[in-house]
Amino acid sequence: MPSTLSQLTRTLDGYAPDSLRVDVARQAITRFVTPLTETEAIPLKQALGRVLAADIVSPINVPSADNSAMDGYALRGSDLGASDITLNVIGKAFAGHPYPHEVQPGECVRIMTGAVIPRGCDSVIPHELVIDASDTAVTIPSGRLRAGDNRRLAGEDLPAGSTALPKGRVLTPSDLGLIASLGIGEVTVMRKLRVAFFSTGDELRSIGQPLDEGCVYDSNRYTLHGMLLRAGCEPIDMGVVRDDPASLEAALRDACRQADAIITTGGVSAGDADFTRELMARLGEVLFWKLAMRPGRPMAFGRIRDDSGEGKQAMLFGLPGNPVAVMASFYFFARDALAIMAGGTPHPQLTLRVPAAEAMRKKPGRTEYQRGIVGTDAQGRQSVRLTGAQGSGVLSSMSAANCMVVLHHEQDSVAVGEMVDVLLFDGLF
Ligand code: AMP
Ligand code: MG
Repeated sequence: MPSTLSQLTRTLDGYAPDSLRVDVARQAITRFVTPLTETEAIPLKQALGRVLAADIVSPINVPSADNSAMDGYALRGSDLGASDITLNVIGKAFAGHPYPHEVQPGECVRIMTGAVIPRGCDSVIPHELVIDASDTAVTIPSGRLRAGDNRRLAGEDLPAGSTALPKGRVLTPSDLGLIASLGIGEVTVMRKLRVAFFSTGDELRSIGQPLDEGCVYDSNRYTLHGMLLRAGCEPIDMGVVRDDPASLEAALRDACRQADAIITTGGVSAGDADFTRELMARLGEVLFWKLAMRPGRPMAFGRIRDDSGEGKQAMLFGLPGNPVAVMASFYFFARDALAIMAGGTPHPQLTLRVPAAEAMRKKPGRTEYQRGIVGTDAQGRQSVRLTGAQGSGVLSSMSAANCMVVLHHEQDSVAVGEMVDVLLFDGLF
C-alpha cells in the first residue's frame, strides 16, 4: 500500500484532479483506506448489520442427520423392484421423535417431513404415491421411486468444519438465522467505525435558532446521521462550524481525536475561501478534486493528523454543501470507503436495467445520478421517470425518488424507451 495519497494517485490510470472520473476517484479512495483491527464479541441478536471479524465455521452437520423431505413411508431402496411391493408398517417417525430400531427388508416406517430416516432405510415414498395403505401394510407401485429419493442428507446444507459465512460479511437477518442454526449464540465482530461530521457555512442555522435573513436550516447533518446509521457506523454530530480558520481547525482536530473518519460538508467549492485547503493541507494530506460527476462536483479526500495529542489520524471526506450532492458523494464515495475501514467489503452496486419513461438530457464526459421513480404501468410494465427538478439543492426530489438513475460517463442523452441503469434505494433486507 502506498504510504501517501499522492504516491497512490500517480499510479492510477486517467488520474486528473481537475476532471476526475467517478471510477478513478473510487479506486483512489478504496485503495487508500485500511481496515480497523479492533474486534468485540457480542450476542447474536445484537449482530444485525455488524461486520464479521472471523469466518463462522460450522461445528456441526446441518442437517445433523439424514431426514425426510416428505410425509410418507421410509423404506429400504433395495426392496424396490420391477413390480409393486407390499411392506409391513412397523412404526412411526416424527420430527423430534425418531424410530428407534433398525428396519429390516420387507418393512417400512410411517414418516413425517423433517423426521430422521430410520436405520436401514434410505428412501421415502410420499404418501400420495402409495396405492394401498392400512395401519399395518402399504403397497408401493413400481417405477415411481428410486433408492435415495426424498431424503435430505446430513450436512447437505453445511458440512461440519465448512465456512458458513466469511470474515468481512455484513450480517443480514438470514445470516443471523444461519448462525443460530449452528448453535452459535455469540459472534466476534469489528468494532463500529466512529464517524464525526459537521457542517460548515455562516449561513447555516441549527433547528431551534431563528432563521435570519438569507439563512438556511442545516439539513446535511440529519441526512448524514441517517446515512451513517444505515452504513452501520457510530455517528458523532459536531454541529455547525463557522467559515473561519480558527473554528475549522479546532473542529477538525477535535473530530480527529474522537473519530476514525471525518465528514465535512460545504466549503470545498472553488468559490469558497482558500483557507480550507491551506488548513487541511497543513493538518495532513488532503487532495481537492473536481469530479466529472453531477451532482457533487467538488470533493476533498485525504487523511489528517492531530499532532497536539497522541498524533491520532482520521480519514477526511470533504463533501460539497448542496444537500443532494452530499448524498450522492456519500453513496458513491464515502460509503464504500467506510465499509472497507469497518473491516467489510464494499456493497456491490446492483443496478437494474429499466426503460426510460421520459427523455433524459445528459452530456457525455461525466457521470450523472438523477433521482428517479421506478413504477409499473397498467400493463404491468416497469419503467423509470425522473422526480422533476434535478438541482443539487432540491432535497424534496430526493425524498420523492425510489432510485438513482445512473447515466454513465460516456453516455449521451436518453430517448423515451431506451434502457437505463437504476440503483434502487431499498432492497428486501
Ligand atoms: P457550499 O458548498 O458551501 O458553497 O454550499 C453550497 C450550497 O449548499 C449553498 O447554497 C449552501 O447554503 C448549501 N448548504 C451548504 N451546507 C448546507 C447544509 N448543511 N444544509 C443545507 N444546505 C447547505
Ligand atoms: Mg459554504
